[in-house]
Amino acid sequence: MTRTVYVNGEYLPETEAKVSIFDRGFLMADGVYEVTSVLGGKLIDFDGHAIRLARSLNELDMNNPISKEDLLVVHRELVRVNEIDEGMIYLQITRGAPSDRDFAFPDPDTTPCTIVLFTQNKPGLANSPAAKVGMKVISIEDIRWGRRDIKTVQLLYPSMGKMMAKKAGADDAWMIEDGFVTEGTSNNAYIVKGNTIITRALSNDILHGITRAAVLRFAQEAQMDVEERNFTIEEAMQADEAFITSASTFVMPVVEIDGAILGDGTPGRVAPRLREIYLEESLKKAI
Ligand code: PMP
Repeated sequence: MTRTVYVNGEYLPETEAKVSIFDRGFLMADGVYEVTSVLGGKLIDFDGHAIRLARSLNELDMNNPISKEDLLVVHRELVRVNEIDEGMIYLQITRGAPSDRDFAFPDPDTTPCTIVLFTQNKPGLANSPAAKVGMKVISIEDIRWGRRDIKTVQLLYPSMGKMMAKKAGADDAWMIEDGFVTEGTSNNAYIVKGNTIITRALSNDILHGITRAAVLRFAQEAQMDVEERNFTIEEAMQADEAFITSASTFVMPVVEIDGAILGDGTPGRVAPRLREIYLEESLKKAI
């Protein structure tokens, strides 16, 4: 089936969708994105993603080209026409395509933002076998820019980080700055000690994960303790458990960090439970 995508107000077959070579997303990574997961044909945490999108645009002085209501309509229409039961919707908004390459921002009145959405079909997303085995991470230096709270499409270093992990026989990398773990290449990072979940506090240093917010809320509701503080990779290597969260992986246990095996090397008690609660509660609120 040819995928139907959305580009600047039109639904098109993916083979006919086009963006200008002068688009600032292409030339300057001048754009932001969101990934919303779909379970049972419904959107998980759509509101959270729409709110963060508006914030990212605002932080970069970009106009928001679409209302939340219209954005929901587009998401739902793409799910419908592409018959997505489990998967993701990728959304990207760039500062548009001026008539030439220039570092200065174009006038938003004459250069409208580019907006693109497409679906990613991932049957079995919720029942991922990886969640039963757990993942291995390595640590790498965090050399990204200082506004990681803005969800920009500058993903070269995270991409390189995934390749470094792959080369080392691991699944992902946790990044380290000034001796402390910031986050994973495309996810938030957590360790567990006893009944306490430890994760870095929100700041410009990390992306404010939508899944993070939900999982911390569910953890507290389930009487688990949450400590939002810095932790080192050495502390992580000695933790009882570790895990990551993101919209596309939900809660995923980590069983090995820089070669150190956590517990007995299988997902512990907390991460799988949180995954279960997250999926159950999010599905209830899916729209
Ligand atoms: N941190 C980074 C660097 C990410 O790229 C992502 C996912 N895009 C996350 C955290 C997790 O955010 P969310 O739960 O909103 O997907």
